[in-house]
Amino acid sequence: MVIKKANKEALTAAEIKAIKAHLLELREDAMARLKDKKRLDMPDNEVGDPIDDASKSLDKEILFELSGNAHKTLDQIEAALRKIDKGIYGVCEYCRQPIPKKRIKALPFARYCINCQHSTESSHQH
Ligand SMILES: [Zn+2]
Repeated sequence: MVIKKANKEALTAAEIKAIKAHLLELREDAMARLKDKKRLDMPDNEVGDPIDDASKSLDKEILFELSGNAHKTLDQIEAALRKIDKGIYGVCEYCRQPIPKKRIKALPFARYCINCQHSTESSHQH
């Protein structure tokens, strides 16, 4: 009996399980961060001086920007979890090639392989 040699870049069920657990942790983290941002947005810390009002509105803009990024990260994590459920996790969304394990482990919610990531990034610069 010939055992079909598995693609060395293919993720095993155990690896996917570990990645999923990691993604769930990252999701918790991102959600906690978003919550923190909201809490920081509330003016419940000792305020009083008029100077604070000016810095407060500035802070809000920065926080908004940061929470925007946290939202983006959260979206990517959710998308990765959906792909795991669908059984299409670990494949580049652009060229459909398996994403190298090294990259997946470094960036579990990566959507593209390194090549496609670079080409999408450079095309944005035009
Ligand atoms: Zn690709």
